[in-house]
Amino acid sequence: MGNGAPGSVSTAARGGAALLRLAANKALLVALVYLLLGMVWILWSDRVVEALFEDAAQLTRAQTWKGWLYVAATAVLLYAVLYRLLRDEATHRLRQQRQREDLDLLNQFRESIIDNANIWLNVLDAQARITVWNKAAEQISGYRREEVIGGDAVWEWLYPDPDYRADIARRVRAILDEGAEVEGFETRIRCKDGQVKTMAWNQRRFFDERGQVGSIAIGQDITERKRLQDELERMAVHDPLTGLYNRREFELLAARRFADCVEAGHPYSLLWVDIDEFKAVNDRFGHQVGDEVLCGVAGVLQAVVAGQGIAARYGGDELVVALPGIVLPEACALGEVVRQRVQAARLLADCDAGTALTVSIGAAQRDAAMHDLMALASAADAAMYRAKAGGRNRVCGPA
Ligand code: GH3
Ligand code: MG
Repeated sequence: MGNGAPGSVSTAARGGAALLRLAANKALLVALVYLLLGMVWILWSDRVVEALFEDAAQLTRAQTWKGWLYVAATAVLLYAVLYRLLRDEATHRLRQQRQREDLDLLNQFRESIIDNANIWLNVLDAQARITVWNKAAEQISGYRREEVIGGDAVWEWLYPDPDYRADIARRVRAILDEGAEVEGFETRIRCKDGQVKTMAWNQRRFFDERGQVGSIAIGQDITERKRLQDELERMAVHDPLTGLYNRREFELLAARRFADCVEAGHPYSLLWVDIDEFKAVNDRFGHQVGDEVLCGVAGVLQAVVAGQGIAARYGGDELVVALPGIVLPEACALGEVVRQRVQAARLLADCDAGTALTVSIGAAQRDAAMHDLMALASAADAAMYRAKAGGRNRVCGPA
């Protein structure tokens, strides 16, 4: 793994050839100088010796000594040159060995960091085959290094859906071919044990020491974070007891649809639902039964208006349904279905078979004088009070 440029290999090769050429030239130069000096010495010393000694025996001895002197001098010179060369080479080798040891240590350190990092780290070659798969990748995915290294089958295992896999493969190709980078890209992987996990990826291209292209991916298992985030988002818009939208979200969603209907001139109705004698339910059977009853009514309401309206718990035992595009008679009919189903559900049957739980419902439709959702809500609320005043367990429209 590394970040060198793709041309670095040929540059290094060119540099090595030039150094070799320089060494050969230097050696040739030394040999030529040696040859020249030898010739000069032989010619000069012969003349000197011949001039000094006339006697043939003395001349022969002098020639022998001259030869010894030459051999001794060149031996000293050779020793000096070889000593320097071999010493330099030994120092160079020693330095290289130390560098190798340092590099090995650094590699071990790097591998141990990669392996023990708390994040998934994998490296791909140009064909998207796995070359590095660290411990965290093994732990998160369940696939062991031996199963994945050198191949690309793991992508089929992690992303069994072919369309999803093709989409991810396209992104990886863009990284390898064009150097595109991804940051915080989320995918859902299927682990070996069948679990589905959400991962966040940072991935980018790199070139190794030989200039080969690859990509390095760092993945974080964000399944738990995502679950908490989803849960928080759900809690922010839903009522924790009934699971219906909460009042704030209802006002937001219903007001948006209200404005759309005003603009388009479409009808818009609203149902206001209040449980009858709910305080007495709490008092007689306890709050927990009260909670279960509330959930039961919410369930009926949701089932009846599903797909047609926005149901919410407005507060206490008051539930509301916004019905965009629906006229009053239709809204009253829906309210009547809710009323009947709540009664038929016999939500208190386990506590007291004789007590029927009922709801009172007020219905209203937007008219030209109602400029916002609150005006319509007040009308439906007033209709609900009329239902209470009329004896409860009934649906009332505008007065
Ligand atoms: P009415 O027929 O006139 O509506 O009579 P009611 O007793 O239902 O009166 P009201 O609607 O004013 O009372 C609402 C009661 O709902 C008061 C409170 O004890 C109960 N309540 C509000 N929120 C909850 C809740 O989350 N759980 C339970 N168990 N009770 C709740
Ligand atoms: Mg009530």
